[in-house]
Amino acid sequence: MPRLKLVPSAEPSPAEKVRQRVRAMPKPASVLQCTRCGGREMIETKTGMLFKDGKASGGTKQIVCVACLMKGERVVVL
Ligand SMILES: [Zn+2]
Repeated sequence: MPRLKLVPSAEPSPAEKVRQRVRAMPKPASVLQCTRCGGREMIETKTGMLFKDGKASGGTKQIVCVACLMKGERVVVL
């Protein structure tokens, strides 16, 4: 039976350490923008909501560009 040797785990290189630190940082906030017209005014819509006990709840939330909507186009931004 071959003898098993314990290999010490390699220390990450300085470049790898930087990459790990960058990955751990929170993503910066950015302005939500319509991909079709570049507009920044959005409305939130909900599809498939449930009506129960006199209240609407649940559903799938989507963010739609207002400028495109007024032109008769439905552009889902998020
Ligand atoms: Zn738009």
